[in-house]
Amino acid sequence: MMRKGVLKIVVPCYNEEEVLHETNKRLLEVITSMEQSGTIVSGGVVYVDDGSRDKTWQIIDELSKADSHVAGIKLAHNSGHQSALFAGLTLVSECCDMAVSIDADLQDDTNAIFEMVDKYNDGYEVVFGVRRERTTDTWFKRNTALAFYKLMSVMGTDVKYNHADFRLLGSAALKALVSMPERNLFLRGMVRTLGFKNTDVFYDRSERFAGESKYPLSKMMNFAVDGITSFSVKPLRLIFSFGIFFILIAIVAIGYGLYSYYIGITIPGWTSLLISLWLIGGAVLLAIGVVGEYVGKIYKEVKRRPLYVIERTENLK
Ligand code: UDP
Ligand code: MG
Repeated sequence: MMRKGVLKIVVPCYNEEEVLHETNKRLLEVITSMEQSGTIVSGGVVYVDDGSRDKTWQIIDELSKADSHVAGIKLAHNSGHQSALFAGLTLVSECCDMAVSIDADLQDDTNAIFEMVDKYNDGYEVVFGVRRERTTDTWFKRNTALAFYKLMSVMGTDVKYNHADFRLLGSAALKALVSMPERNLFLRGMVRTLGFKNTDVFYDRSERFAGESKYPLSKMMNFAVDGITSFSVKPLRLIFSFGIFFILIAIVAIGYGLYSYYIGITIPGWTSLLISLWLIGGAVLLAIGVVGEYVGKIYKEVKRRPLYVIERTENLK
């Protein structure tokens, strides 16, 4: 079954005056081409100005006046990439059949949008843009990135390797996503929890077209920590495991301590100190682990995520 619909491309922009004209040109090319070939019913680009201090909004304003395909949203202050994107997705969720999110800097290949829309037309609800392995990347870069994804998954956050925020969402998935009321956004993880029929589209990632990255290393680190702590209670559970581990060591220490005591190779006080050290450590960690379990529950409650997402119903009157 082929389906087709209205496409909105959502672009968060923070101080992007240097790239906007080029970005707009390329996105409009993609849209007009798909409108002409009948792949989509109609398309539009929605720029979200995330409180930029340069001419970004002025440019968006001009572009939207020049072409009815272009729309703009101006946020009152800088809210960060994830929030800006969420704002755009929320506002388009009622007026499109599918939404593509893409950065303003043209690092993601705009031509991959064609393939994403084809997948949507084939019935996929979520299409992930996945960056091909860059052979030009240094060994260090590739492995730190890999370590990052590994750490995330060990800590219980499901992320897709080499997928950032370049993706297509059908309106069912989109509405489910924007109905998540949480404050700590980590969209690429949230999308993964949705389910739906999904697939990947591969592309080569280029350098930034112009301007500089708005994500310095410090922001990246924060983002990684956010990714783990806003998704998973595993770190809390780990405390409990450490507690058990310490208690086990305590048991071994008790055995060893008593044995040494009886064969008389100890100085007075050593046995009791050794044993209580491990036992207390273990007990404290266990206790924190128990508290952590409750904190984890509270954390899940306050997120108020929907309990389920309905993909479709049949014959339900
Ligand atoms: N961005 C934003 N608000 C911010 C920081 C960034 O809307 O506070 C936008 C930015 O304009 C770009 C996207 O988020 O469209 C990704 O940022 P950037 O390309 O600087 O990140 P990088 O690709 O270097 O990780
Ligand atoms: Mg970028």
